[in-house]
Amino acid sequence: EKVFLNGTIYSSNDAHISVFDRGFLFGDGIYEVMVQLGNGIFYKKAHLDRLQENLDKINIPYDVSHLEAQINPLLDSYNLGDKTCLIYMQVTRGVAPRKHAYPKDVPATVMMYALPFSLPHINTKNMQVILQPDFRWHRCDIKSISLLGNIMTNEAAMTQNADEAVLVRDGIITEGSHTNIFFIKDEKVYTHPANEHILDGITRKIVLELCRDLEITVMEKAIPADKISSMDEAFLTGTTTQIASISKLGEHVFHTSGAIGPITLKLQEAFAKLKGLDSST
Ligand code: PLP
Repeated sequence: EKVFLNGTIYSSNDAHISVFDRGFLFGDGIYEVMVQLGNGIFYKKAHLDRLQENLDKINIPYDVSHLEAQINPLLDSYNLGDKTCLIYMQVTRGVAPRKHAYPKDVPATVMMYALPFSLPHINTKNMQVILQPDFRWHRCDIKSISLLGNIMTNEAAMTQNADEAVLVRDGIITEGSHTNIFFIKDEKVYTHPANEHILDGITRKIVLELCRDLEITVMEKAIPADKISSMDEAFLTGTTTQIASISKLGEHVFHTSGAIGPITLKLQEAFAKLKGLDSST
């Protein structure tokens, strides 16, 4: 197990972080997850740009190009060959005496690791999803390492033998605990607008592009929870989830037979084709 930490590749047992790291004390940091496929890192630029934008949003002074330069050396150290893998990256505000205010002139703590990971060609799972109150803060657009609201709602799904929790704020469906959600009604696709109440997923952006390519009307318009039963199809998106059909959301059953809706299937097929192309730049 190798990890990259602050400029050096270590065996994970030898990689140490101070207890005064602000990531540990405050959850004061940003993370990113992406996957390397046979032909490169899927939407690498989009992921690295999002990481830089998020660091800029919270004024962590770090240039992501330094981390980008370390991806290949790290992957080489794993001897993965052409195996596909998941890459996790995290940047925190660094080590300083515990005070809320941002410390001055402190270098960021930068960590990255990879894991062997394979994605199915198409995610054929049909998700059972529960609804949970979205009690998170009002900056869900920030890909913060502080994920308490996400893990608590996801845990509720796990204890109820569901696959994911989808969150409801003021009667409106926002997103999943670690996914975005889309609905289909009368052949039109709906998803929550990219504002401070959701994370603007890279997979979400890809699906919006695919809809445009396939001439499917898309509306970045949130769906109220009390309208779920009038929707024709629903699916989740995420880097590791890809596009996953929802069979049950709250009390509403979309597909009793385990079938996948026609527009969801069309988007899944188009997404699978994209993975065959080099999208890393
Ligand atoms: N929404 C939340 C809260 C997430 O944590 C994630 C991914 O981790 C997503 C959406 C999906 O984002 P992406 O498609 O970039 O993986």
